[in-house]
Amino acid sequence: MKLVIKFGGVPVKDGESIKKDAELVVSRHKKGDQIAVVTSAMAGVTDQLLEIARKLVEPRSNPREQIPEFLRQISIRHYQACQDAIKNKEVLGRTTRTVRETIDLLERALTGISYLGELSPRSQDLILSFGERLSAPILSGSIESLGVKSRALTGFEAGLITDDHFTEARPLMEKVRRIAKQRINKMWAANEVPVITGFIGGTEDGVITTLGRGGSDYTASILGAALGVDEIWIMTDVDGIMTADPKVEPNARVIKTISYIEATELAYFGAKVLHPKMIRPAMDSNIPVRVLNAFKPNQGGTLIIKKPNQVKDIVKSITMSKNVSLITVGGAEMIGVPGVAATVFDIIGRAGVKVLMISQSSSQADISFVVDRKEVDLVLRALRSEFERRKISWDISCERNVSVIAAIGAGMKGTPGVAARVFGTIGRSGINILTIAQGSSELNISFTVDERDAVKAVRALHSEFQLDRAG
Ligand code: ASP
Ligand code: MG
Repeated sequence: MKLVIKFGGVPVKDGESIKKDAELVVSRHKKGDQIAVVTSAMAGVTDQLLEIARKLVEPRSNPREQIPEFLRQISIRHYQACQDAIKNKEVLGRTTRTVRETIDLLERALTGISYLGELSPRSQDLILSFGERLSAPILSGSIESLGVKSRALTGFEAGLITDDHFTEARPLMEKVRRIAKQRINKMWAANEVPVITGFIGGTEDGVITTLGRGGSDYTASILGAALGVDEIWIMTDVDGIMTADPKVEPNARVIKTISYIEATELAYFGAKVLHPKMIRPAMDSNIPVRVLNAFKPNQGGTLIIKKPNQVKDIVKSITMSKNVSLITVGGAEMIGVPGVAATVFDIIGRAGVKVLMISQSSSQADISFVVDRKEVDLVLRALRSEFERRKISWDISCERNVSVIAAIGAGMKGTPGVAARVFGTIGRSGINILTIAQGSSELNISFTVDERDAVKAVRALHSEFQLDRAG
């Protein structure tokens, strides 16, 4: 089989885990599979890189003083991982040198940023790329140490060419297909396992870009599609895609098969397992995606395919997005005025904020939408100042502490009465619903509640749709 196998942050958290990942790759390689490995940064490293980069441009007296201590900690962690993941002395020496050289480059990049006092999207991408540029050689070394030829490549080296939309770059699929095929096939022909940095690509001129946070999944799927592999495996630290967050609903279980569109919907509504953009390339090429627990790889996990031919669950999963806020723009003056939504969302779009859910009452007397709680003040400020500038007198109100609950499943389409069941259940639980939305795709019904009611709402729906039953 041809496989792309991606290891996420927690499965590469330390040398011991990396060694387990390498063992899995090697055992599949020995069975005759042709494998392209994609790896994330070691767990938490990307966040740390972002944090230091931001601190370095804060206007304080001596930001550069923080660099040595930061590098010391990053070095210790990666050297230790080399030691634990790589037993072969020669490979260990070589990998440790690569890690040291990469940390030297990181030091120069950080120093540069601190002198400039400015973190552009382009330099942010450069800094964030170091997480994967440090982890990939270690995983590759660990594979080599087990006697299989392997080489670490950056996304760019593997052919992941993107546009120059730094921090959210998009792949140039035609080019990726041509270059990745050529490079990876050559390595496969030489019986070599490529280990490719997830999350990062490069413009045609070789300037480093990133695909957006959590983007290693996306890398796996872009490369999987480009290479035309048989399956894409996402190795993570949970058992698969679940019927609900097990921390919220202890009876949650793994969903065995799910369609591409349902998986996208779930990723979008905050089931953190997959990056929302990752399904598309796999879906377009009709490549099955498996979500597996890297620590228990033989446990079935979740299979994502076009049309699962199992009993049609009406609702497959209940999600809850925490830390969001609900903003309402309303007032009698809005009734019948054309372009209200356009005006409001134009302002929010210009502020660079993503809207998670929208609902409008048919009287048009108000329009409500949900944004990330971290961005609510930014949105409120943008709306107020624009309204003032344009002499608009619509009211703005805000419920800060809400959650979005979504019931997701393709079986809802054309099944009457699902909404009644959802809202009947919530009503019987004594929970007040603030706003409701259903996409015309009928893949989800979503609504907002006070965040204090959120867990209760998830659990009530999970039991109403009998999601705790084996399926
Ligand atoms: N390391 C990147 C991040 O933390 C990409 C990923 O892990 O998927 O966002
Ligand atoms: Mg992830």
